[in-house]
Amino acid sequence: MPSGSSFRDDIARRAVVTVNFLSRLTSRGGGTVVGGRVGLALAPELLADLAHRRDVILVSGTNGKTTTSAMIAAGWGGAVATNDTGSNMPAGLVAALVASKSHSAVLEVDESWLPDVTQATGARTITLLNLSRDQLDRANEVRRIADRWRALLANARESQVIANANDPLVVYAAELATSVAWCDVPTPWTTDAVSCPHCTQPLHFTESSWWCDCGFAKPNNIATTLRDNLVVRGTPLALDLKLPGAFNQANAAMALTALSLVGVDLALAVARVNALTSVAGRYSVRRWRSHRFRLLLAKNPAGFAAMLLTLERDGSNVWVAINARVADGHDPSWLYDVPFELLRGHRVFCFGDRRLDLATRLEYANVDYVVVNDDSSIPVSAVPVALLANYTAFQEWRTRSRAC
Ligand SMILES: [Zn+2]
Repeated sequence: MPSGSSFRDDIARRAVVTVNFLSRLTSRGGGTVVGGRVGLALAPELLADLAHRRDVILVSGTNGKTTTSAMIAAGWGGAVATNDTGSNMPAGLVAALVASKSHSAVLEVDESWLPDVTQATGARTITLLNLSRDQLDRANEVRRIADRWRALLANARESQVIANANDPLVVYAAELATSVAWCDVPTPWTTDAVSCPHCTQPLHFTESSWWCDCGFAKPNNIATTLRDNLVVRGTPLALDLKLPGAFNQANAAMALTALSLVGVDLALAVARVNALTSVAGRYSVRRWRSHRFRLLLAKNPAGFAAMLLTLERDGSNVWVAINARVADGHDPSWLYDVPFELLRGHRVFCFGDRRLDLATRLEYANVDYVVVNDDSSIPVSAVPVALLANYTAFQEWRTRSRAC
């Protein structure tokens, strides 16, 4: 149980601040995780105590956590405690809560940490976006995570859950929760949920629904719909995002549903969400040498599919950068699950440690490509090109370029 502000917590809090300060001073990264780890080592209950008496919204799922959390923070208005660096395990959450005393907190949480973090923070509002394979070497985890979420939510009687009704694994995870606001939002990627989590028979999908012969099906008590218009729990909202793509509209619909459950004025919230232009360096136009590009993060097949669907079919050059380091997963064969066929008609410039693996995949997809071994050979485009990069490649390109 949270014990309030004890002497031990006070020391631990100061330690987080000091270690993070020293870490930044010595350029050992942003310092958010290091300080959090020290704090938790000194006071294991620190996360619980820091979250005590705050209004906490948790956001979890394979794709869209950072963007949805940013939308919730923006839509809430005023000061909001949030782990906007993307450090989404307990040490990062501790650092975020030490850094802000705001009563409102939105925390993106790594999927596998959600049960522990829910218990520690006592969060009453939990937003579940989607579940798909992330890195290939973690493929088996998706269903195990759905089972762990299900066990958590079956017992979290006080929690309000916001859940994606079009993702069968999310529905399986949330269907035993006491209070669920089901969101009917575009979810094109269901490849990781082709068989029923209850009985393993194949699921049936139509454009607007899905079901299993055993009776497991899309919920029909939908709270939020996003088709031609967005209606959040009975309130029509004028969604006009500056961020691209249907998946960002889906993220916004779920963010606004979460905000409606903590009593935020939705008209104000949607205006603030509409105004967002960039999230943690994503989507913004950046400059590198004489080139300009829009930097897009895509880490897995579902994320890539969503990002490819945002591109205009205008034959423009597209840059794709693929690494396969520890944070990316060492096995790049997930590239074969990405619908790169969508890039036919474009010329793709292949960057990153695994540019040859990417080029081979594009060859099979019948897409025009160039393997970039010499940076000076890249043509300069009149308009910013799209640069899709997986995790460490994204960080490299963000460091290498500057905002413009
Ligand atoms: Zn079934």
